[in-house]
Amino acid sequence: MKGKLVIFTAPSGAGKTTIVRHLLNKIDLLDFSVSATSRRKREHEEDGKDYYFLTPSEFRKKINNGEFLEWEEVYEGQFYGTLKSEINRLWEEGKHIIFDIDVKGALNIKNTYPDNSLAVFVKPPSPEILFDRLSKRGTETPESYRKRVKRATLELTYENKFDISLMNDVLKTALQEAEKIVGDYLKIG
Ligand code: 5GP
Repeated sequence: MKGKLVIFTAPSGAGKTTIVRHLLNKIDLLDFSVSATSRRKREHEEDGKDYYFLTPSEFRKKINNGEFLEWEEVYEGQFYGTLKSEINRLWEEGKHIIFDIDVKGALNIKNTYPDNSLAVFVKPPSPEILFDRLSKRGTETPESYRKRVKRATLELTYENKFDISLMNDVLKTALQEAEKIVGDYLKIG
């Protein structure tokens, strides 16, 4: 039987990656959908673990071959996408799958698998707090920070399109709530 899909989405900087990592540590039957991207690898990231890092032309080739379940140009010139092969690999291992994905990709996956997916929107306490977190993260250049703020402003308007909103104000509380939401959905714990 195919496992369930747990989709975490949020504006960049809202903390969804931290929440997804926490859930992966806590819930054995859950595994991470490693996306493909054409953006540059950050120092602490590992190819095949955080992302499959592709060149723009490798990425385009996979689009043309129909290898993606969904893909988006999340930032200008930076592509991100979910490979069909990744989902099948995890399902064959008997896993439920968790996604860390942008709002449009999340809606795509939700619409493709409406009966076995849960989409959770992680929201910051306020847009100002989000922009502040993003600037303190130290991963962005002034140009990429500007792009992310613009994108996050759009993404915040998507909140009511998802099954559940999860406020990430105090991280510890957000992690507990995330465990409860996902545990209930998978009927574990
Ligand atoms: P980052 O560059 O910070 O790792 O990710 C930028 C944005 O792209 C985040 O919102 C992240 O969740 C999203 N993203 C990551 N993988 C995918 C994917 O496979 N598809 C889509 N549509 N978005 C993704």
